[in-house]
Amino acid sequence: MPVLCSSCAEKRAVLKRPKTAHSLCKECFFWAFEEEVHQTIVSAQLFKHGETVGIGASGGKDSTVLAHVMKVLNERYNYGLKLLLLSVDEGITGYRDDSLETVKRNQQQYELPLKIVSYEELYGWTMDAIVKQVGLKNNCTFCGVFRRQALDRGAMMLKVDKICTGHNADDVAETVLMNVLRGDIARLRRCTAISTSSEGEGVVPRCKPLKYAYEKEIVLYAYFKKLDYFSTECIYSPNAYRGHARTFLKDLEAVRPSAIMDVIHSGENLSVREGVKMPVQGTCGRCGYISSQALCKSCVLLEGLNRGLPRLGIGKHHRLHEKILSQQPLTQEEERKLKAVDF
Ligand code: SF4
Ligand code: ZN
Repeated sequence: MPVLCSSCAEKRAVLKRPKTAHSLCKECFFWAFEEEVHQTIVSAQLFKHGETVGIGASGGKDSTVLAHVMKVLNERYNYGLKLLLLSVDEGITGYRDDSLETVKRNQQQYELPLKIVSYEELYGWTMDAIVKQVGLKNNCTFCGVFRRQALDRGAMMLKVDKICTGHNADDVAETVLMNVLRGDIARLRRCTAISTSSEGEGVVPRCKPLKYAYEKEIVLYAYFKKLDYFSTECIYSPNAYRGHARTFLKDLEAVRPSAIMDVIHSGENLSVREGVKMPVQGTCGRCGYISSQALCKSCVLLEGLNRGLPRLGIGKHHRLHEKILSQQPLTQEEERKLKAVDF
């Protein structure tokens, strides 16, 4: 006997929700999923009527579902938002060039304006060229720092009020774990925030409407809605440590589906002891971007690349920032240390 949908009790159930274990038909699942995102948006007051919102779009499942759901909810509940797509081209042949084609199709399908900013035009370096110089161990450090700033710069060019990104519950839980494992207290404190003001995260405020959406449900939603998305992994994706955290979380989820929400909940309720030193926000002496050091991370990484000293931005070399800023030469010993790259 076919199982009936536990919500409408009319149609046949086609799936069991990973989050609640309810058997639902397609329409009731769509409705439940969209309503939960709507609740997230409303209860955290993520947007104000009349705002322009840039949706960080990579062509992957999360941002494609985000763009789709944002458009649906904006119309259904009259949010009054002006939505547009904002993409970053890291310059990764065989990966980003293909996924950007997906974003361009999404632009047509959703009839939203699209802006693409590239590492090459912003920094003079593509990720392909960066990997050639730094190898496959620290490439994601460069990519992550550059992406954060690139999104901000794109958002400022478009004069958007807010950026929303496709981070889902699994991503947030994974980041909580990563920050615990690394002992990164400053990040641990802010990584569960659903929206960030300019504090520490960039210039344009960001939010995560899919913060409580399980990755498995995003995949189901995209699949049943037949959304057009790109599912290949980045060819430079070695980030082994994060991979372990991800596998660990997936193992936990298999035994106890609520593990994801539980980790997020724990992260949200951690409080940082009084007296723990937090970075003080200032601005970068070179590019003017927010930074807690004399130079922002992006400028340090770029300086390292341009000087052929890729290790400059990796690890703690704050001492050298002043020297770089005032264009003083480095000692031979300093140069030697910064040249070493482990592939
Ligand atoms: Fe960039 Fe690393 Fe992500 Fe690839 S896996 S897009 S290199 S951060
Ligand atoms: Zn800078």
